[in-house]
Amino acid sequence: MNRIEKVLEDLKQNHSYDKNYQQAVREVFEDISESYDEHEDYKKFNVLEVLTEPDRIIRFRVQWLGDDGNYYVNRAWRVQFNNCLGAYKGGIRFHKSVNEDTLKFLAFEQCFKNALTGFPMGGAKGGSDFNPKNKSDAEILRFCHAFMDELQRYIGPETDVPAGDIGVGSKEIGYLFGRYLKIKNKYNGAITGKSPNYFGSCVREEATGFGCIYFLEEVLKKHELDLKNKKLCVSGSGNVALFAAQKAIELGSKVLTVSDSDGYLYFPDGITEDEIEYIKTLKFKNKRRLSDFALENSNFKYHSDENPWGEICDIAAPCATQNEVKAEDALKLANNGCKVVIEGANMPLNDDAVEIVMKNKMIYVPGKIANAGGVAISNLERTQNAQFLQWSFSEVDEKLKVVMSKIHKNAIALVEKENGIINYKKGANLYGFKKIADAIVSFGVV
Ligand code: GLU
Repeated sequence: MNRIEKVLEDLKQNHSYDKNYQQAVREVFEDISESYDEHEDYKKFNVLEVLTEPDRIIRFRVQWLGDDGNYYVNRAWRVQFNNCLGAYKGGIRFHKSVNEDTLKFLAFEQCFKNALTGFPMGGAKGGSDFNPKNKSDAEILRFCHAFMDELQRYIGPETDVPAGDIGVGSKEIGYLFGRYLKIKNKYNGAITGKSPNYFGSCVREEATGFGCIYFLEEVLKKHELDLKNKKLCVSGSGNVALFAAQKAIELGSKVLTVSDSDGYLYFPDGITEDEIEYIKTLKFKNKRRLSDFALENSNFKYHSDENPWGEICDIAAPCATQNEVKAEDALKLANNGCKVVIEGANMPLNDDAVEIVMKNKMIYVPGKIANAGGVAISNLERTQNAQFLQWSFSEVDEKLKVVMSKIHKNAIALVEKENGIINYKKGANLYGFKKIADAIVSFGVV
């Protein structure tokens, strides 16, 4: 058994319940063996062992008051995974599915994603199994305050800088930052994703979705293709999906689908910007489902309990959540002539789906590069905060394009085209791994 196999074996023992986490590590380890074998120092300083054992996991209880006068208890975590490249950085997720496994996998992925941006950021992730979906605003406010009462002990602009993720948008960030400010009495960049109205950055809300499409442009250019009139299937209808759809339309393509966990909407001629705006209001302001949109607009077909991957498209952009694309979905995409699969969400393809996509010569673009625009702009938010400045929307948007192009350059720096296609998975894993591993070696013992 070689060292990589041994570490994977140990992982199965030491993190036996954490299937998503094991999947994320396996996916990276598939690509790094040559680089690992070439560097004796990586063995000497236990790079693989260090890289797969989080620096620390903070676990806490959040008790909050419901509108009905009862108190409720949720579980919450902050996984501070690795800070070799900078202060811990990564979002907070509020969703009923959140557990330690999910957050460990997300924090591990975040280390690589952040390394690929070239900015000084370590990797972290946090969250709670609190489900904001059926809660009133007052309940969300009280939960956020109770959550921050505990989290504030462990974060700060030079230590750990959380941001949003699924279930944590600009409203929740406002409640969290407000509470942080009240407790610490420090107006600083300890949290990103703040509104541009009070110390936040323009384009932060749009950054992950816009960045994903800017990255797609780079990918297509590299393969002598472009976005004009291409048909995209997008899943999800949160920030990432809707801003990705908006940018894709702006750049001349047609977006055929958006979805939520109950089903998907199909737009035969492509969704329009007005329809996207309407869905934003429906979902974010009125907390309603996509099926309501279909009821009000009978000319759009709503497919209940199905996902969009059976539709004919050139490009698939899963922007909902982890492991949403399974082997049978990947096969449908392959059989329907899809050419590119780009991940707007974190690890939306399971192991089997990735294998099928790559075997069928589709271009596969993993989330750790395709959705890095969000955290990249978070870093620019920290920069603006540290300088007490605010840049304009167009200035930040320009910088986002530059960053996505830089991430693309990093992701292809260590790989060649194979059969006319770039292996972005290997390129991203190799680059991220080397950057973190070299830092671990430089520090000696971390
Ligand atoms: N949650 C986002 C991500 O998955 C953003 C993290 C951040 O801005 O720190 O990358």
